[in-house]
Amino acid sequence: MKHIMFFCIPAHGHTNPMLPAAKELVERGHAVRFYSFNEFEEKIKKTGAEFISCDQYLPKVTEKELKRIKKVSTTEMTIADIRTTINMDPFLQKEVEEFKPDVIYTDSVAFWGKLTAWKYQIPMVCSTSTFAFNKMSSQYMKMSIREMADMIFGLPRISRELKKMEPYGYHVDNALSLVQNDNDTDTIVYTSKKFQPYAETFSGHYAFVGPSVFSEAKPDKAKDKPLIYISMGTVINDRPDFYTKCIKALKDKNVEVVISYGKYMDKKELGTLPDHINAYPYVDQLDILSKASVFITHCGMNSVSESLYMATPMVLYPQTSEQYAVARRTEEVGAGALLKDDSVEGIQKTVDLILENQAYADAAIEYSQDFRSCSGAAGAAEFIEAAPHIVEKGMR
Ligand code: UDP
Repeated sequence: MKHIMFFCIPAHGHTNPMLPAAKELVERGHAVRFYSFNEFEEKIKKTGAEFISCDQYLPKVTEKELKRIKKVSTTEMTIADIRTTINMDPFLQKEVEEFKPDVIYTDSVAFWGKLTAWKYQIPMVCSTSTFAFNKMSSQYMKMSIREMADMIFGLPRISRELKKMEPYGYHVDNALSLVQNDNDTDTIVYTSKKFQPYAETFSGHYAFVGPSVFSEAKPDKAKDKPLIYISMGTVINDRPDFYTKCIKALKDKNVEVVISYGKYMDKKELGTLPDHINAYPYVDQLDILSKASVFITHCGMNSVSESLYMATPMVLYPQTSEQYAVARRTEEVGAGALLKDDSVEGIQKTVDLILENQAYADAAIEYSQDFRSCSGAAGAAEFIEAAPHIVEKGMR
C-alpha cells in the first residue's frame, strides 16, 4: 500500500479529472489524502479518498484583486497561489512528517503540491487539466492584448512574491518554471495522443490517458428535437449578455435548449424563457451531452473533452488563450466551428452549420471512439503507482 497525497486548486475544471484516479487508487488499496476545498468535499469523499480542507489557507483577496482574478489575471492567480503555498507551509510540513507520502499527485498549477514534492524530495506526478504545453503546442494559443499586458506588467510583482518563499525553503527561479510542462516531469494529460497537438514532441514521462470522465452514459442522440446545450464553464460564466443572445437566436427554432448559467448571476437576468428553453445554475453536464446535438461552449478543456467523449459537435466560443488553443484544435479535427461573430445572427448561423453538416457529428464520433479506447483512470492510477518513471533520454 502506498501513501499518496493529491493536491488541487479550487476549480472544478482542475479537480474533476483527478477524481477517477483517486477512486481507482483507493480501490487498489492505497491510502489517498486529497487536499482540497470545502466546495469539493462531497465529490472527493465519493471517491473514497480522505478529504482534507484547505480553505483556511487561501489568502484574503481585496475587492480589486478579486475583480482581476475574475478577469482571469494570471498575475493575480499566480500571486494568490504563492501566498497559499506560504500559508500552508507549516501545516504541510506536519502532514508530510505524519503521513509519509510515497508519491504526490498535484495539479500543475497547485504550487503548494509541486513545491512540497520538491522541498521534501518526494516523487511527484503532475496533473495537466489542459493540453500539455511546450514550445510547439503553445503555438496553438493566441494571447489577447489584455493577457499579454497582464503578464508583462505582472512579472516584477510575481518576482517579489517568489522571493518571499525563499525563507521557507522554496527556491524558484521564475514563475514559468513553476507552471510549464517540461520533458523530465512525470505528467498525466487527460487527452489522447491523437487529440494532443504535437504529441510526438513529448517524452516518455507523459501519459496521455484520455479524458477523465465519471460517467457510464453512452451517446444517445435519438430525440424528436435536437438538444442544444450551452455553458461557459464554472469560472467566468457570468455572461447574461451572451446567454440572452443565444436565447434570442434559438427562441423560434424547433429545438430543445438547456443553459447552465453558473452560480454568479440571477436567472431573472435572462428574462422570461420560452417553454423549450430551460436554464439552471448547474447541470449534470455529461448526461446532457450524451443526448445533445450541439454544445455551445467556452472551450474549457474538460467541456470539450466531455463533448467529444459523448460525440457532440460544438460551437466554439473561447475566452482565454488556453481555451483558444482547445478551440483551434477542435476546429482542426473537424468536430466544431468557431463562433467568429457572436451576434444573434452569428449564433443562429453557426448552430445551423453544425446541425446541417453531418461531418461535424462524424468527427465527434471518431474522437468519442478514440477517447473511449484510452487507458483512462486505470492508466492514470498505474502511472501514479509506478512513479518515479525512468525514461531513457530521447525516448518518446
Ligand atoms: N460542469 C458541470 N455542470 C455544469 C457546468 C460545468 O458538471 O453545469 C462541469 C463540466 O462537466 C466540466 C467542468 O464543470 O467537467 C468545467 O470544466 P472546464 O474545463 O470545461 O471549464 P472551467 O469551468 O474550468 O472554465
